[in-house]
Amino acid sequence: MKAIINGKIIVEKEVLDNRILLYSDKIMGFIESKAAGELLQNCQEIVDAKGNYVSPGFIDMHIHGSGGYDIMDGTEESLATISSIVAKNGVTGILATTMTMNREKIYTALDNIKHFMGKEAQGAKILGVHLEGPFINRKYKGAQADEFIIEPDFSFIEKYVDIIKVMTLAPEMDENYKFIKEVKEKTKIILSMGHSNAEYEQAVKAIENGVSHATHTFNAMSPLNHRNPGVVGAVLNSDIYCELIADKIHVHPAIFNILATIKGMDKVILITDSMRAGCLHDGISELGGQKVIIKNNTARLEDGTLAGSTLRLNHAIKNFMDYTGNGICQVVKLASLNPAKELGIEKDRGSLEVGKYSDIVILDEEFNILKTIVEGKTVYTY
Ligand SMILES: [Zn+2]
Repeated sequence: MKAIINGKIIVEKEVLDNRILLYSDKIMGFIESKAAGELLQNCQEIVDAKGNYVSPGFIDMHIHGSGGYDIMDGTEESLATISSIVAKNGVTGILATTMTMNREKIYTALDNIKHFMGKEAQGAKILGVHLEGPFINRKYKGAQADEFIIEPDFSFIEKYVDIIKVMTLAPEMDENYKFIKEVKEKTKIILSMGHSNAEYEQAVKAIENGVSHATHTFNAMSPLNHRNPGVVGAVLNSDIYCELIADKIHVHPAIFNILATIKGMDKVILITDSMRAGCLHDGISELGGQKVIIKNNTARLEDGTLAGSTLRLNHAIKNFMDYTGNGICQVVKLASLNPAKELGIEKDRGSLEVGKYSDIVILDEEFNILKTIVEGKTVYTY
């Protein structure tokens, strides 16, 4: 048994003071500090939070890379490095996100992830895959490579339906929603609209047929026009979950509050869409086989197209809090309980509750990460 003392513990709706968090690989309880005396003597490790927040670990449903590595490298070294680097940002779980590349490259990445998921993580746990493309629309390809975009085809994903948790696709490329229906019938994969030029009506139909998520809402999708509401209109007018890159570059921060007001705080999920250059300095990098230039924390292709981000998830949460006026319990949920609920793993992860895995982060008022614990094991200390 281990314990965290002197922390302000963020539970779903409130912050608990004067409690000690007892844990092993799972959370064992919260007891009054005064009553803890003898129990603490039996603890093999006591972490002093020194008055800082004790938060549920963050889950990033959309991340391509960090620290010089990318999921598409298809190597164990790459996954191990990404997993330990993002832990420094308070991330305890990720969906390894692929890019639109050729079939072999995607399969190599997927085989590598499958193999890695069986191992004990030294950082954030890889909870599965977010397959971004290749069934997208060229018009909104963003930084996805044009030549590898193909028509939706169930046989393409068949071998990997156990590890794919989310798929980004353009529903207008799927004739009569055949692929969407087949995926919903045969798998538990969450279908996400993104890199899409769908008309409002097409997007609404896609939702009726099983699309339940939107990939980096507002970015790389047909925008909202009052006579032509597009994918954005359909996302805002439904109860599907929506990802947001809250870096103040991909979307104006005024949008944070608009989105939270329309969708409610239960349906917004903060992601990073971080690429290889995440957690590195400005310079030249790469994404999905294309050259990317990083300047002032902004990643762009040579033609100026935004290409992923170098955002850290702890900063995204802080940004969202600063521009919406929500309290810390509410904003932390956007990167913990909300993604856990959508992934169907909320019984095990996503909040600090007895019986759930001890995925825990200690952070200060500025969201600097001081310690990250994954399934009870400390993987990062500042
Ligand atoms: Zn992406």
